[in-house]
Amino acid sequence: MSSITRVTVLGTGVLGSQIAFQTAYSGFQVTAYDISDDVIDSAKKRFDTLVITYKEDGVAGAAEGKADEALTRIRFSSDLAEAVADADLVIEAIPEVLSIKQDTYRKLGGLAPEKTIFATNSSTLLPSDLKDSTGRPAKFLALHFANQVWKYNTAEVMGTSDTDPAVFDEIVAFAGEIGMVPIPIHKEKAGYVLNSLLVPFLNASYALAAGGYAEPKDIDNVWRIGTGAPLGPFQITDIIGLTTPYNILSHAGPEAKPLAEWLKANYIDQGKLGISTGAGFYDY
Ligand code: NAD
Repeated sequence: MSSITRVTVLGTGVLGSQIAFQTAYSGFQVTAYDISDDVIDSAKKRFDTLVITYKEDGVAGAAEGKADEALTRIRFSSDLAEAVADADLVIEAIPEVLSIKQDTYRKLGGLAPEKTIFATNSSTLLPSDLKDSTGRPAKFLALHFANQVWKYNTAEVMGTSDTDPAVFDEIVAFAGEIGMVPIPIHKEKAGYVLNSLLVPFLNASYALAAGGYAEPKDIDNVWRIGTGAPLGPFQITDIIGLTTPYNILSHAGPEAKPLAEWLKANYIDQGKLGISTGAGFYDY
């Protein structure tokens, strides 16, 4: 069991709100921090929606009062010093911009008590990119969640060579306590496990379709029927949204450019961005 009881989450956006809510849902006292009271006011709607989603998705106990109760364990703050004053753990889920994260860690390092562990939810930055800004590299690591934490409940735990192994174990234990399946990663790896597998898989599927070898629907059929997987790569892309793979491919070197162009010309330029827009590789 971890010794963590008070958790502060920085950022109340898509992932920050989910992490804060899931942590409160698991019985922890949570402080949700964001940069201004206006941002927090709009974030509160996100939390209200999570209460409804947990009930609709049948999360155990949600409809019996647990989801409403979770909200009562979350307090909101736009004052960083006050938000972290007594935190055992700070989970950072602020924009994926190196300078914003580094600035925030510099401030945080001076404000949080010595006991506080810092964890970043960054998807693409390595914890090594941030550790020096924290002023406490031994108590810093990555704790990476997947979108829709209540059902896609992996938590990839990845430290740097400076992370204290006892801190690493503490966060693995904590991840389990908030209903995640902890995935310990032994050395730093861009993309963790999930994206190290998923990105090449999706790119291979785009290369097959863009190269004229087979239709997206048929490629999905082969994958589902041939492996028993519930979804094919194009169905997965429609869930993620086509702009994320497009952005990754656009910055991945010359050999990836034709795939980015293919996504753009055939789908993105026609407003087919995936499930969120009602159409992608499939119509919804
Ligand atoms: P988001 O844009 O939805 O939310 C970011 C939040 O951070 C906003 O509420 C914003 O007001 C706030 N913010 C901005 N500057 C801040 C600062 N200086 N201090 C505190 N808060 C600040 O972003 P997101 O999608 O929730 O992503 C946040 C992090 O989570 C990123 O590192 C991203 O890589 C990671 N992540 C995202 C996903 C995803 O599917 N969206 C999945 C896993 C990890």
